[in-house]
Amino acid sequence: MKITKISAYQVDLPLHEGSYKWSGGKAVTVSDSTIVGVETDGGLIGWGEVCPLGPFYLPAYGGGCRAGIAELGPHLIGENPLELNKLNRRMDAALKGHPYVKSAIDMACWDVLGQVAGLPICNLLGGRYGEDFVLYRAISQESPEKMAGSVAGYREEGYRRFQLKVGGDPDVDIERIRAVSAQLERGDKLIADANTGWVMHEAARVVRAVRDVDVYIEQPCASYAECLAIRRRTDPPFVLDEVIDSVDALLRGHADGAMDVVNLKISKLGGLTKARQARDLCVSLGVAMTIEDSWGSDVTTAAIAHLAHSTPRELLFTATDFNSYVTVSTAEGAPQRTNGRLAASTAPGLGVRPRMDVLGDPVLEVP
Ligand code: MG
Repeated sequence: MKITKISAYQVDLPLHEGSYKWSGGKAVTVSDSTIVGVETDGGLIGWGEVCPLGPFYLPAYGGGCRAGIAELGPHLIGENPLELNKLNRRMDAALKGHPYVKSAIDMACWDVLGQVAGLPICNLLGGRYGEDFVLYRAISQESPEKMAGSVAGYREEGYRRFQLKVGGDPDVDIERIRAVSAQLERGDKLIADANTGWVMHEAARVVRAVRDVDVYIEQPCASYAECLAIRRRTDPPFVLDEVIDSVDALLRGHADGAMDVVNLKISKLGGLTKARQARDLCVSLGVAMTIEDSWGSDVTTAAIAHLAHSTPRELLFTATDFNSYVTVSTAEGAPQRTNGRLAASTAPGLGVRPRMDVLGDPVLEVP
């Protein structure tokens, strides 16, 4: 089987909440998503999606996805989409870095592989664990009272894990963590995600001030060295996210005892092939995982579901259902949250059928 054509579609994804705010005053109101179709000589089309969280979260931006696919695409025509490791080596040889550009192409080739095999990607990634898996809800950075109200509302909808966007003024962040923790009950989990927003003395203050609260601290500072310094002088359970962007970073973090949990985002690592490698390594090392992506809609959510559902329960800390955050549905067949939980499709491949009326005309076609 050969890749004969790669098409990219641009879709704007507004938010049900209107905006999403996190550390350092960063905010998005509409996300710029790229949906990619990989067509083969057998007539099958696989689908993938990449959606950065604005141009200022990770080193990725919406226009960069399309520019990168225009650059990389011609090198992939004629390649076999079923040979995922070989295809990834081809992509890495043709374009250095830019993992997010490769992510949607890799995802689409997994979709082709699943359709050819007649199996859900979840099964191809190692097997389905249990009926479904647990989701978290990201709580946009607002006043402590507003965030507490938001958590109470999402708790009503069935979520039991809440990731607070902190990384702002440390005094207000302390109030945010306390106000939200008062809403929680036994079995709920609270994560304070600073998204690199604190400098070390601020992180140390916040962690010390909430030491009586049952809370996980996620990515307090910008660099690995700063996060490691905070990790070594404080005792709450610790999650690393932005700095864990490769197997190399993961191994270093594990060797240093730098985290209890890592956040694996599919596009941050460069696609499902590389995310699976990191996931399997975490399973072998006993490191728990949040499995998600930077942002996205139905296609991304389907891919997250396959990777998360094929992860052993005790090591899957939590995952995300981005298609419930955004107002636009880009595909039929994507998994839908029930009571704060999600399950991967049992249909072959990703199990999604893009809504071509939503995707519109391709903005890019190779060749
Ligand atoms: Mg995070």
